[in-house]
Amino acid sequence: MPDPAVLVIGGGPAGIEAARNVADLGVRAIVVEQRERLGGTPVHEQYAALTPHFDDAEQAMADMEAALRARELADVRTSSRVTALSGDAGAFRATVEGEQGSEDVEVSAVILATGFTHFDPGRERQIYNYYQYPDVLALQDLEAMLKRGEVLVPSTGQPPKRICWIQCVGSRDRNIGNEYCSKVCCGIASKQAIEVRKHVPESRASIFYIDMRMYGYWEHQIYWPAQEQHKVQYVKGIVTEILEQQGHLLIRGEDTTMGRPVETPMDMVVLSVGMEPSQGTRDMAQLAGVEQNKYGFVDVARPPLDTVGTSREGVFACGAALGPADLEDTISSAGAAAVKAVAMIRRGTLSGVS
Ligand SMILES: Cc1cc2nc3c(=O)[nH]c(=O)nc-3n(C[C@H](O)[C@H](O)[C@H](O)COP(=O)(O)OP(=O)(O)OC[C@H]3O[C@@H](n4cnc5c(N)ncnc54)[C@H](O)[C@@H]3O)c2cc1C
Ligand code: SF4
Repeated sequence: MPDPAVLVIGGGPAGIEAARNVADLGVRAIVVEQRERLGGTPVHEQYAALTPHFDDAEQAMADMEAALRARELADVRTSSRVTALSGDAGAFRATVEGEQGSEDVEVSAVILATGFTHFDPGRERQIYNYYQYPDVLALQDLEAMLKRGEVLVPSTGQPPKRICWIQCVGSRDRNIGNEYCSKVCCGIASKQAIEVRKHVPESRASIFYIDMRMYGYWEHQIYWPAQEQHKVQYVKGIVTEILEQQGHLLIRGEDTTMGRPVETPMDMVVLSVGMEPSQGTRDMAQLAGVEQNKYGFVDVARPPLDTVGTSREGVFACGAALGPADLEDTISSAGAAAVKAVAMIRRGTLSGVS
């Protein structure tokens, strides 16, 4: 009988944290990441500073990765995928395919940490013209720009005088079937507005929102400083159209507080796109035979008291594979998944830990 091991699929913040905890609890953790690098979406999409403390995202992920790789019990496989999974809790057999070929590994438990993807704003009716107008960006485009240390209007190469964010693009939208709130975008937009105001002090920054949803401490860490110290303007309203007119963008909509139409020129518009399950989350949930909710995220079997157990014994999930999550949620669920997986092994039971 081989030593027990836990297979962690996905090497983003959730997978790294889950695997580190598994190793710290004395069990071998095999991490399978499809990309060349660990670090997940924050690294792949070049996030700049992390909400709420403005830590450098790449450095934060590098620190997490270094901590994982320092564990002897961590077995990290990048550019790899899991192509088959058979067996039952306590005795799974997984096929891992990577650059070195294919290998079957025996593991006692599996943790799905396959994360999310950004909502594609091209899918949201045609009001935003994301693919038509170069100066209409999505959150991750501005993150990459901020990471390069610049804020420039793509079509002119000049700093923006007027920039706005449009909230809830691809979230809380019954027409496209994503009724859920993506949790992080109000905080991320506010953080970006602070950064833009610091980069370009003469710019005017506005955020158009339906409701401002700042979870927990982000309210005083991000929202109030954005307004009070950085003079970001919050407009409760709905943007119904973005047009190009005389060399700049024109946004049309309604200021719902004042109950009047809005028509404002902008140099740059940022779409606060929501979170959807990654293709890997959909594929791996199917491969592992666990239930997914109607949006494609992995369903927890016994909420709210078990936040990481899935419908299949011995298969756990964490991070944004479970639904929209900030890093705090992600790290918490990753720790919980590691503990549940190792506890199941220690108890030698197939019934999980409840
Ligand atoms: C624009 C934006 C900015 C954000 N900024 C912040 C912030 O400032 N602060 C904050 O707290 N949160 C932020 N978040 C949220 C944060 O990015 C997530 O909480 C976090 O990335 C979730 O981590 P994860 O590991 O679950 O998923 P991911 O980061 O998506 O990582 C999943 C990993 O799994 C891998 N994978 C997927 N499928 C497979 C497969 N089949 N096989 C192998 N590997 C696979 C992927 O390649 C990826 O490496 C932001 C989100 C958005 C949308
Ligand atoms: S966090 Fe804010 S922008 Fe994102 S879906 Fe929720 S309310 Fe909309």
